[in-house]
Amino acid sequence: MIDFRIGFGYDSHRLEVDIPLVIGGVTIPHDKGCVAHSDGDALIHALCDALLGAAGLEDIGTHFPDNDPTFHKINSKLLLFQVVKLIHQKKYRVHQVDATLLIEKPKLQPFVHHIRQTLAEVLEIDKNAIAVKVKTNEKMGFVGREEGVVAYVVATIVK
Ligand code: MG
Repeated sequence: MIDFRIGFGYDSHRLEVDIPLVIGGVTIPHDKGCVAHSDGDALIHALCDALLGAAGLEDIGTHFPDNDPTFHKINSKLLLFQVVKLIHQKKYRVHQVDATLLIEKPKLQPFVHHIRQTLAEVLEIDKNAIAVKVKTNEKMGFVGREEGVVAYVVATIVK
């Protein structure tokens, strides 16, 4: 029998001016970025939680506390790399990722290919096993007012 597990992750971050915007490991040219202890990469944080959830390994805040100076302004790709290591230690490998990011501006469609490629390298899987959908929130709520971003990720791992 195949040991196949599904995990779900959610993250949100506040947007403020004069902070670099990093989504899925890619720096996006924009006048606002995510306020965070790390680089504020909501997509990668949700992905980490999805993978940790699938493996029954608690959550990103447990593994990388936001009051730990080690993780101050850390590139979230390094956190994801650590999470993949934990998954591999439990004898699982990442099988598939399906992500949705809500951001009103800028248009991220031109960056999706690069984001998928970047995640594929860290996850050690084919880019075709990674979906990244970017949507606005139709000007509604905090996403619509450009006050923040939201990421939802479903990931599967297999032994
Ligand atoms: Mg976060």
